[in-house]
Amino acid sequence: MTPTTTPLYRHLLARITQSGPMPLSDYMQICLMHPEHGYYTTRDPLGAAGDFTTAPEISQMFGELLGLAMAQAWLDQGAPAPFALVELGPGRGTLMADMLRATAKVPGFSDAAQIHLVEGSPTLRAVQRRTLQGTDVQWHDRLEDVPDLPIFLVANEFFDALPIRQIQRDGPGWRERCVGQQDGMLVFGLGARLPIPALDHRLMDTTNGDIIELCPPGVSIASEIGQRIATQGGAALIVDYGDWHTLGDTFQALSNHAHADPLAAPGTADLTAHVDFEALAQASAPAAHSRLTPQGVFLERLGITQRAQTLATGMTGAALDTHVAAHRRLTHPAEMGTLFKVMALYPEGAVPPPGCTP
Ligand code: SAH
Repeated sequence: MTPTTTPLYRHLLARITQSGPMPLSDYMQICLMHPEHGYYTTRDPLGAAGDFTTAPEISQMFGELLGLAMAQAWLDQGAPAPFALVELGPGRGTLMADMLRATAKVPGFSDAAQIHLVEGSPTLRAVQRRTLQGTDVQWHDRLEDVPDLPIFLVANEFFDALPIRQIQRDGPGWRERCVGQQDGMLVFGLGARLPIPALDHRLMDTTNGDIIELCPPGVSIASEIGQRIATQGGAALIVDYGDWHTLGDTFQALSNHAHADPLAAPGTADLTAHVDFEALAQASAPAAHSRLTPQGVFLERLGITQRAQTLATGMTGAALDTHVAAHRRLTHPAEMGTLFKVMALYPEGAVPPPGCTP
């Protein structure tokens, strides 16, 4: 089957023929989460055999350190019980499993924790169920459905998977980047020029042709997290690639660990965009946010090198090589150490979680 004859390609073409070009955000949403043919709904994309690898899949140290940071934040806020231990987009469930193992000996933590996973993919829910066998876990489609308790939340490579809008500067106005069709092929296009009052402040730092990216679902989830933390207490650790204040086109497709054409085979490539941490921080008010911290610095502050040394004793040969490479991959500036960033959310006036500074 060539890409243009796959069911999702035909579905997209039919929709565009009927209703006209669709904003990039609709295209991304359909490609990733279409109930029958979406990228995440139909597969487990993680690991060497998949399209990309994430920090928890690289080493158990990542989840262990995040778990202990969360447990310390919980202790710092008076060990509220019960509380919701929440993960957004848990992939294979590896991060949560490593967090739970590392925190099992923190007095009271496991007993007080109700585990809530927000996961849109039935396929990945099944993988998570296997990974977390024996643990009492509840799944939800949306964060809003998690009970109203203090929340201690982690999200690794979740926000980059949420649909973005791309808006291109055109004189005093803006044009939205859309996906349309030409001669039966999907093509990028631009909508009509419109003034967008909400983007007036971006007229200052953009020039003609510049693209800015907005992630409405990300902003609304950050707002929900912030409201909960401000009213019930808790903390969030958001880890992703991106920057403070984004500018430019960061939309990309990954397939088999390589860049791909995002329009060529919808539903078969991972589609992502860099996370605009400034937008998430602003939306999370009245909760406080930490400085944006490079992942390598964050993990070093939490003691990853000591943990790596402890785990290395007793390892030899290929296992030791893999372990050393994993430590480097998570922390080195030329690998994930600088590209990936961490931002914590916490109640105004509380101390930020370990590894993060106000
Ligand atoms: N956190 C994991 C997986 C990252 S991949 C890890 O680090 O390995 C992105 C995850 O977010 C997947 O589990 C995917 O199914 C989920 N996801 C993506 N968009 C979502 C949405 N809109 N709602 C709920 N889950 C979503």
